[in-house]
Parts: sequence; structure tokens; C-alpha cells
Amino acid sequence: MLTKAELHQSATRWAQGGIAAVLSTDDDSTDLHLADTLAAGVGLCDVDAVRVLVDEGPARVHELIAMGAVFDTDPEGHLQLAREGGHSMPRVVHAGGAATGAEIERALVEAVRATAAVVLENWFAVDLLVEGGRCRGVVALDPTGVAHEVRATHTLLATGGAGQLYAITTNPAQATGDGIAMALRAGLPVADVEFMQFHPTALHHPAMPRPLLSEALRGHGAVVRDRHGDRFVDELLPRDQVSRAMTTRMLDQGVDHLWLDATGLDHFGDRFPTIAAALREVGLDPASDWLPIAPAAHYLSGGVVTDLDGASGMPGLWACGEVACNGVHGANRLASNSLLDGMVFAPRVVDAIVAGHEGPRATGAMRVVLGGADIAGVAVSTPPPPAVEVGPADKLRAELQQVMTRGAGVVRTEATLAESLDGLAISADRSADGAELVNLATVAGALITSAQARVESRGNHWRADHPEVDPGLRVRLVHNLP
Ligand SMILES: Cc1cc2nc3c(=O)[nH]c(=O)nc-3n(C[C@H](O)[C@H](O)[C@H](O)COP(=O)(O)OP(=O)(O)OC[C@H]3O[C@@H](n4cnc5c(N)ncnc54)[C@H](O)[C@@H]3O)c2cc1C
Repeated sequence: MLTKAELHQSATRWAQGGIAAVLSTDDDSTDLHLADTLAAGVGLCDVDAVRVLVDEGPARVHELIAMGAVFDTDPEGHLQLAREGGHSMPRVVHAGGAATGAEIERALVEAVRATAAVVLENWFAVDLLVEGGRCRGVVALDPTGVAHEVRATHTLLATGGAGQLYAITTNPAQATGDGIAMALRAGLPVADVEFMQFHPTALHHPAMPRPLLSEALRGHGAVVRDRHGDRFVDELLPRDQVSRAMTTRMLDQGVDHLWLDATGLDHFGDRFPTIAAALREVGLDPASDWLPIAPAAHYLSGGVVTDLDGASGMPGLWACGEVACNGVHGANRLASNSLLDGMVFAPRVVDAIVAGHEGPRATGAMRVVLGGADIAGVAVSTPPPPAVEVGPADKLRAELQQVMTRGAGVVRTEATLAESLDGLAISADRSADGAELVNLATVAGALITSAQARVESRGNHWRADHPEVDPGLRVRLVHNLP
């Protein structure tokens, strides 16, 4: 296992709300979880993939518990199940109130340290090692910046998302889309990258990643106010609608943030201990202060196209978690389905390798490449890779994030997307920072050209110049479609 920072540094540790899985069948069922997931994905989920997700999820949660993860229980010892936006039933298990990711990661990091053959921390995977059309590992920089070939019979990309494409994100600094960029450079199919989910209520503060003021606060009565203190949106609408209303209001009022007023919530510290601690750290008191908020890039639905066993378009290369596009999320991820995605599909990769599978099969999202999908695949061209020269990577990264936020963020039009594409001409040095910047620019280019091709509004993708869903565009937009 190699990871570019320390083992615990990932998006997983920041996950708050929890894991969606049907653990009580009193009123709930996997059919309901399936229906909720399909509704969120607005016609672009692969139904078979979602079936696998909801059916195999509950056993994976029990496996995690057996591995030592401790979830919140009621006084009788039953798992507490929360209800989140888009779910028709309470089915979200959580840990430490809103510290679910930290608990999952604690259990997994312990298990990895106890069992992994080799753990290389602060090693940066730069590119896939491809020989004879098969993946043979990666080229990686060691902690001193020296390049090595790290060889493997099978290689699993689990590099996470790409929130760092935007100036405001809930994602950690490591979420730079490296796995997607590597796959694009290797000519592998990558799909659905126009669907970046923005979380409406991230704390507007220089702290990175931005602390989330979770949906639960709005569910319990916190309200969104504009610069004049007026309410302007139903706070309980789905995330994308709240994000859009907020972005439009921010542009109208020429401000870079709005306010969440939670002063009416009793016992804030007891009910939301993690959020209360984050607020204390930046000197805010939710009992008396309005909390500055802005929409933040949160989750990338698309990624490296895989089959239902995580096989990518290249034998020997597999992908799971946020980097992958197996078809479960479609145009919008249902809350708390992403930890579940990783938990369900990662073990399927291991099982497939053990079973001797070689290369992808026509299942899940991979059917847009190999045939048999009810959702057609449409090829999108990827802009050429950016030039690589010497330059200050941190300054260039900030510029790229501004370019993406202005033109390819919550609200997009043909004109703003074209401006963003023009603004992507960047240069970078050959360090890991430089390589990350090139990856960000590569993924940004792919995201923009997909967003240009999707001349409609669907799920997380909002085109102000095409505000309706176009039934003719119920297609998967694929880079490197053979
Ligand atoms: C603030 C926040 C709250 C969230 N809340 C929830 C929630 O309540 N429920 C839910 O289901 N989901 C939630 N999510 C989403 C969920 O946490 C992520 O989608 C999921 O954890 C991604 O897991 P992953 O293993 O794919 O990636 P990560 O956990 O991000 O792991 C990727 C790893 O790959 C490493 N890496 C990346 N590139 C390279 C490279 N080039 N070389 C070597 N290593 C590399 C990184 O350092 C990192 O360790 C939340 C996300 C955030 C940011």
C-alpha cells in the first residue's frame, strides 16, 4: 500500500453524517434504499450497481463492527439510525455523533498496520506502469522526490476525489484527482466527471478542509440568511437546490458568504459536539453568533469507469471509492452512500482478484464501454495535457481553483465554461506539488468539456443557460470511450 501523505490523511476521516445501510427491516427495505438512490441519481444510476450497493451494504457494516469500529447505540444497545436528506427512512449509522469517518478510519488504519505487507507513507504515485497493455504497478516519488517503479501483479486505485479543483472545498489537501488524471493519461474510460456535488453549508473560514455545518442543523431549525439578514430559501430542499439558491444570492449581493443562524437551537453542544468543537476553535458561539457559510465542493460522482468488481478498462488495474465510477451515484450521490460505496466495492475487487478475473466485464458502468447498458455512452474529447515547466505550484493551484469556482462551479453557462477552459493553461515543476497541479488541470479540463457537452441541468450539474432536464441527454459522457 502506498499513500502520498500519512496513512490517516484522507477524506474518509472527515466524513461526519454516517453510512447509509438497511440495518433494521421493521419499516425499511433495500428496495426503498434502491429507490431513493435512483431518485437522487436522476436517471443516470446503473440499477444493477445500486442493487449490489444496497444488498451487500448491511453485511459490510457488520464486518466493520467486527473489525472494531464502534457506532452510536441507544440505551438498549441497538444501533441508532438517523434520517438524512433524500432518504425515505432513518438508515444512517454514525459514530461519535458526527465523527463517523474518524472512527471508521481508526479501525481501518489499525487493521492495515496489523496486516499490510508493506506500507509506504509519503510516497506519491505519479503514473501507471503499463507493459503490453497491462498495468504492472505505478511510478512513484519517494519522500525525497526520487522516482521508483513500484511493481504489482494487481494495482488498485483508491485515490479519492478532487475537491481541490475549487477554491472552497470540504475535501482535504490530498483530494487532487490524481487517480482520474492517471487513468486519463493512460487512455482509460472516465465518466460522469461533470457531476461535482457542492455542500451548501460549509463554514466560511480559512481553515482547510472547511468544517461542515451538517444538514442536521438545518433539519433541527437553523436558517440561512443573506447579507441583510433575510431568509430566501427553504433550508430543507436537497443540497444542490440550496447551493444554487445561495450562489445566486451571493452573486446578486456581491458577497462571498452568507449566514447560518442556529441561535434558536437548544443544547447545541450536546447535540452536535463535533461541530461545536470546530466552531469553538475558530472563536464562534452558535448561541449568539450567526455562522458564516458558503457552498463548498464536496463529492465527485464520476471517475474511472469500472465494472461491478471494480475492474477498470485495463487488465491489472482496479478502482474503488470516490475515484471510481461504477454507476451507483449517477448525476448526484445520495447522502451517506459514498462510504458505503467504498465498503461494498473494495472487497469485491479482492474477491475478483482471488477468483482470477482478468480485465473488465460488461457489468455496471463498464457496460457503456463494452455494451449492454440501457444508458448510452457518448464520447467527450479531453483537452491536451497542460505544459510542464518550472513554476510556484501553490500560487498556480490557487489560481486554478479560482478559475474553476468562477466558471465551472455551482452555476455554469457556455460562456463561463469557455472562460474556465481558457484559464487552465498552467505550468508546473516536476515535484509532487507540480504533479498534483498537472493532475488538477487534467481533471479540470475533463470536467469542463463534459459540462460543456451536457447542455441541460441534471443532478449536480446546473446550466443556467439550459435549466431543464433534457430526456435526450440521459447518456453517460465518457472520456477515452474506445
Ligand atoms: C467533510 C466530509 C464529510 C463527508 N461526510 C460523509 C458522510 O457522512 N457519509 C458518506 O458516505 N460520505 C461522506 N463524505 C464522502 C466520503 O468521506 C468520501 O467519499 C470517501 O471517504 C472517499 O474514500 P476513498 O477511500 O475513496 O478516498 P480517501 O478517503 O480520500 O482516500 C484516498 C487516499 O489516497 C491517497 N492518494 C491520493 N492520491 C494519491 C497519489 N497520487 N499517490 C498516493 N496516494 C494518493 C490520499 O492521500 C488518501 O489517503 C464526506 C466527505 C467529506 C470531505
